[in-house]
Amino acid sequence: MLRIGEGFDVHKLALNRELYLGGVKIDYLKTENGKAVNIGLAGHSDADVLLHAICDALLGALALGDIGKHFPDTSDEFLNIDSKILLKKTYELIKKEKFLINNLDCTVIAEAPKLSEHILKMRAAISEILETDIKNVSIKATTTERLGFTGRKEGIAAKAVVLLKSND
Ligand SMILES: [Zn+2]
Repeated sequence: MLRIGEGFDVHKLALNRELYLGGVKIDYLKTENGKAVNIGLAGHSDADVLLHAICDALLGALALGDIGKHFPDTSDEFLNIDSKILLKKTYELIKKEKFLINNLDCTVIAEAPKLSEHILKMRAAISEILETDIKNVSIKATTTERLGFTGRKEGIAAKAVVLLKSND
């Protein structure tokens, strides 16, 4: 049996945060008063917007609710948590239902930083957690032509679509 799921997430960009995308730490610096300052996504966890969209797609495929239901942002347990752990826990739920990854296709929407050189590393990190071949994990990056909140570099958005197959 096949099941499809989709996920969408947005996080705000903020000063003095590290940027994590697709399980990879990415250097993103801005010069403020002659000093280099880190820019990253704000959130209760490490705010990895791509991994969150993937978690929601996985949960959605089996109608298991959403990431906020399983990992509430009011819980100290998930404060500053590495979102790779959230993805791993989500995948455990999928395996418990006897499903595996068929393939996954994602889009990150960000005006900056340039993501092309990080995509392969993200695909590797995600495919390892989801116990699937890297060729089953597609990640694309796009901008919104400087339009909207992503275009103004106020935040980053991510979309994910996943197809699951039952392993029995
Ligand atoms: Zn999120």
